Amino acid sequence: MSVKVAIVGGGISGLSLAWFLMSGSRPGGHVEPVVIEAEDRPGGKIRTEKAEGYLPEWGANGFLDNRPRTIQFAEGLGLTPLRSSDASRKRFIYIKGGLKLLPESPKAFLASNVLSPLGKLRIALEPFISAKMEDETLADFATRRLGREAFENLIDPMASGVFAGDPANMSVESCFPKIKKIERDYGGLIKGMIRLGREAKKAGKGPVGAGPGGTLSSFPGGLEQLITAARTALGEERIKLGCRVTGIEKLQTGYRVHIAGKQKSSLEADFVALACPAYEASTVLKDFDPGLSKLIGEIRYPAVSVISLGFKKEKVFFDACAFGFLVPFKEGRRILGTLYDSSIFPERAPEGHVLLRVMAGGARASELAMLPDEKLLSVVMEELGGMLGLKADPDFVRIFRHEKAIPQYLMGHAERLEKMDKMVAAHPGLFITGNAFRGISMNDCIDNSFKLSQNIIGRP
Ligand SMILES: Cc1cc2nc3c(=O)[nH]c(=O)nc-3n(C[C@H](O)[C@H](O)[C@H](O)COP(=O)(O)OP(=O)(O)OC[C@H]3O[C@@H](n4cnc5c(N)ncnc54)[C@H](O)[C@@H]3O)c2cc1C
Repeated sequence: MSVKVAIVGGGISGLSLAWFLMSGSRPGGHVEPVVIEAEDRPGGKIRTEKAEGYLPEWGANGFLDNRPRTIQFAEGLGLTPLRSSDASRKRFIYIKGGLKLLPESPKAFLASNVLSPLGKLRIALEPFISAKMEDETLADFATRRLGREAFENLIDPMASGVFAGDPANMSVESCFPKIKKIERDYGGLIKGMIRLGREAKKAGKGPVGAGPGGTLSSFPGGLEQLITAARTALGEERIKLGCRVTGIEKLQTGYRVHIAGKQKSSLEADFVALACPAYEASTVLKDFDPGLSKLIGEIRYPAVSVISLGFKKEKVFFDACAFGFLVPFKEGRRILGTLYDSSIFPERAPEGHVLLRVMAGGARASELAMLPDEKLLSVVMEELGGMLGLKADPDFVRIFRHEKAIPQYLMGHAERLEKMDKMVAAHPGLFITGNAFRGISMNDCIDNSFKLSQNIIGRP
């Protein structure tokens, strides 16, 4: 017997869930997924624009190539990931008015100027700091283990780069579980990395670190290629575009999903998987389970804008042959960082041109992201002028706004998930996934969709 799964939201979470369901085999029948997407295109936060020879990304810029499910998904769709250039290994942090090269090895770290001698000495004391089992804010964790300077210069900009978040509120356990686990399991980060390194060497594996590892990757036509390929593989009958789900209702067996939009209607399914942002899932669940709706509706999403700028190469005098730079909050600048897109993926700009991608806003400056276009552009150009000496007017400008950009995993997030899981379990056949809960990266979204697909496929 086949079962039907209604998937609410056609971002990477919903599309990969549909694909894993469609590709899996269920004993005694198959699974028929249908993705219901509010917009006229699938992809959610993933979207590539093609204009004037440039290839700017609206949201996500790439994924790390070390997670097998993402590779399985891409290759299953007939795509070969494009790895970022070697030049993009060079990353900078903007400290005290200048770009400082982020060291790639412990030896380079000793010689680098990202921290003062005292700041480096404080890191050397890390193995002697006792482990703390409970969750704490990223700011408290990093300051306790590595010292104030390392937190401000290194960890804070990383929090901006990944979550556009405020480390004073972010839960280290929920945002960076691997790092917290190393502290718990090995008593400290340096001790843990040494032990893990030894274990990996014994097992004949490559080097390990507390970071996510892997190489940033995309596709020759940008991330849109993944969305287009998924859309093609699923076929028109499995994706309903322009259909906003407004609510769900429990039936004797299965669910009825109410849809507004182009085709105001309803759809019946055995299972429902909500793969839309938490604030949307909260609206969908408002009448169905007000408590659950309230719980997930509290997850906050600050605004972020991506400002893509194209310049003629001869007008760019700084070293744009690198990954780009992040900006620590204490520097008081009005941008979170800048990626040198056409250095990371050289085909992103026409011959003789450079494409930069500036991020503004985030949890500590959401209002900046929502400035009117002209004002936002002038702020960004002033910042790039002051920071990089970039005085030329851009030949190409695109501003992509995400009013509710990235869900924040704040203190208490783990408890929220525990409560959510219990409440969801009271509704057999209902599932909630997406980037608001257990990882915001594309890789996490795809991993979570894979796990959910196995759960659904294995159900009686
Ligand atoms: C600026 C920015 C940069 C990023 N950079 C990276 C990066 O470089 N690498 C990386 O790995 N991650 C990055 N991320 C994070 C990553 O892009 C997202 O976490 C991921 O794409 C989220 O996918 P999703 O499917 O869970 O949600 P979404 O992409 O938000 O998709 C949800 C979908 O649900 C639809 N929807 C909403 N409500 C309804 C409804 N009621 N009915 C039907 N459909 C509905 C929406 O239209 C949308 O299509 C970035 C995010 C942003 C904002």
